[in-house]
Amino acid sequence: MPVALFISDLHLCPTRPAIVELFEDFLDRQARQADALYILGDLFEYWAGDDSLGDAFNAKICAALKQLADHGTRLWFIPGNRDFLANSGFALASGAGMLADPTLTDIAGSATLLMHGDTLCSDDAAYQNYRRTVRSAAWRSRFLAQPLAERKAQIEALRRQSEDEKQIKSAAIMDVNAATVAMVLRDHGYPRLIHGHTHRPAHHSHAVDGRGCERWVLADWYDGGSYLACDATGCRAVTLPAP
Ligand code: MN
Repeated sequence: MPVALFISDLHLCPTRPAIVELFEDFLDRQARQADALYILGDLFEYWAGDDSLGDAFNAKICAALKQLADHGTRLWFIPGNRDFLANSGFALASGAGMLADPTLTDIAGSATLLMHGDTLCSDDAAYQNYRRTVRSAAWRSRFLAQPLAERKAQIEALRRQSEDEKQIKSAAIMDVNAATVAMVLRDHGYPRLIHGHTHRPAHHSHAVDGRGCERWVLADWYDGGSYLACDATGCRAVTLPAP
């Protein structure tokens, strides 16, 4: 029976080697047994542009993904807010197919909508404005025209600022907006929805226009790993204990 696995919010970086090891182990074991692996954003702590592949750490992660793809597990990637600058260079190095956010697809016979999840957090108007800016072609080309070291410094400064803002923003503002979730489900024909970003793993049931929809929120990889496995019988969340 075809099985698809879903992960997001790993935030891989060299300073958390145990999680990197857990991820490589996951690629060698569970992901190898699966037909497809969908990475729904924020695989990396940040991605400053495809010339980041020159970093040994990034090259190692992409090589591990490529090995999986070459082995025969289809690999798909939706960029998150931290790695939205991943582009064709990343795709080539990792063997991943790049998907739009959102993507509606058939997963083991069920219409399933895949997203990173940040667009669902519509109560955070400041973030949505920022997102529109940095996703524009003009911003992207201006940003990528700068030297890699300069881009990394800017991203790290932005991240410190966003950590400060998170202390002030209420937990509710940083979660999904229920009306936005309902609108997205309606617009896509009441599919199953799988997303990450909020770091609030859960299995929700939504009634939209009298139609039942399930929404799976993926877990982050901070205290261990986690993935969602879906086949024709449904989905189940699996936890990988930290090594
Ligand atoms: Mn995110």
